[in-house]
Amino acid sequence: MRAVGVHTDAVVVTSRMWQTTCTAIRAANSAEGRMEAMLIDSPYFPDELDALPALLAQAGFEISALLATHADYDHLLGRAAFPQLALGVGEPTALRLREEPGVAQRGLRDADAEHYVERAAPLSLGSYQSLPVPGYVGLGDQELELHPAEGHTADGTAVFARWAGVLCVGDYLSDVEIPMVRDLEEYRATVARLAPLVEAAEAIVPGHGSPHDRDTALRLLDEDLAYLDGLTKLPGGRDSKRQRQIHDANLARLDR
Ligand SMILES: [Zn+2]
Repeated sequence: MRAVGVHTDAVVVTSRMWQTTCTAIRAANSAEGRMEAMLIDSPYFPDELDALPALLAQAGFEISALLATHADYDHLLGRAAFPQLALGVGEPTALRLREEPGVAQRGLRDADAEHYVERAAPLSLGSYQSLPVPGYVGLGDQELELHPAEGHTADGTAVFARWAGVLCVGDYLSDVEIPMVRDLEEYRATVARLAPLVEAAEAIVPGHGSPHDRDTALRLLDEDLAYLDGLTKLPGGRDSKRQRQIHDANLARLDR
């Protein structure tokens, strides 16, 4: 697990598993004279989740709210680190969680079994809080923008801390993973929707991989659009055996 500051008020922590990212963002609450911090998504391994609260507290991030970009189990583990907090999700994610009861729990159990990971407790979502998308969620004196981001999955929310220039996109614009496409038109629409947000951002955090600067994110955006156009050629640097498997799964899912 590694942590990197992308802004004075934002730190990105990357899991050893799939380079899954989580982002802590803080803002002043001037009425109460303190900082408030929110955690978006989560690392995977139990030791990482155990270490996360102390690591973030040491960096000056006292987490008081949790958010997940989408309902895939690898992004839903925040409550394993902060069990006293409720998980916030976009409305489409709340809907998906309701429509697919037990799917996230099973996904985590299967991945744990595949990688011989022992976990003290199964995935517990608690009573998650549903947030309107598009919409806003408050953090101290600031507001985070919530933008729809479907196509990778049926749900998905991109979170933009515009005052800090930090954009957390969920599973898009990754430097380590090609697009995993569930719905091609929705995926394209999301990439198009992300473009102006990337233009307005300083740091773009993908669900898996490294935080990017604007130019890198725009290059990845172009590469992803080129991949989506023909669904033939994998982007350079993202053509490993595992990425070819994802590509084959895309073709099968999209009936190509
Ligand atoms: Zn993911």
